[in-house]
Amino acid sequence: MTMADEKSGHKQAFGADVARLLHMMVHSVYSDKSVFLRELISNAADACEKLRYQAIARPELLGDDASGMRIDITLDRARRTLTVADNGVGMTAEEMTEALGTIARSGTRAFMEGLQGGANNQGKTQDASEDTATASGEAHLIGQFGVGFYAAFMVADQVEVFSRKAGADTAARWSSDGKGEFTVSPVDLADAPAHGARVVLHLMDGADEWLDPANVRRHIRDQSGHVPVPVTLHFTRP
Ligand code: ADP
Ligand code: MG
Repeated sequence: MTMADEKSGHKQAFGADVARLLHMMVHSVYSDKSVFLRELISNAADACEKLRYQAIARPELLGDDASGMRIDITLDRARRTLTVADNGVGMTAEEMTEALGTIARSGTRAFMEGLQGGANNQGKTQDASEDTATASGEAHLIGQFGVGFYAAFMVADQVEVFSRKAGADTAARWSSDGKGEFTVSPVDLADAPAHGARVVLHLMDGADEWLDPANVRRHIRDQSGHVPVPVTLHFTRP
């Protein structure tokens, strides 16, 4: 920076190495790796609550889904994946780009700022209201960091999200290795939930405890007992 810059007070934006920032958040904001499961379940439950709410006025959004809201967690030892699927409101490709492509701008935080009379939160504010209603304690705090979803990268080196928004006739896949870049592309309707999101974690080496049904079940019980949507664990015996 030159003296002239300093004198005139020329404002400049900080540059950010997004890859390093992600790495830092994932490895220091959370001390307990199991947080990822709670974050993903909480997002799935939020999405179910949003659809439940929207369906009051627009019951057709539920489609032929008579079974009610649900969250399914599937462990696949052969593929080394842990999948969290919900039949909630889902996301369009644009919403995935926005919601999963912006770090540290959580809907929860926007909602909190909205409560405090902050500006520039229109659009996100209303969406986030259900998120915060269920947030508590540490989860509440983590929500403010806006890295809830990114906790997935504590245990996964590749994350895919297949999603179809309720009422939409297209579906998309978001994918990232958590190192600063992501892709969003259209997928066949057959590859996505009828409505909702399917988050597939490709577990990293050393994260095998998340393929162990007993361990995962224990964490679901400990962390997500309060979730207002039934959570079912699926796995195949080794
Ligand atoms: P927060 O939940 O605090 O907003 P997250 O990082 O956990 O922050 O999630 C970011 C956003 O991504 C959510 O606000 C939501 O819009 C979207 N999202 C995440 N998971 C899902 C899901 N399973 N279904 C629909 N939208 C989701
Ligand atoms: Mg969240």
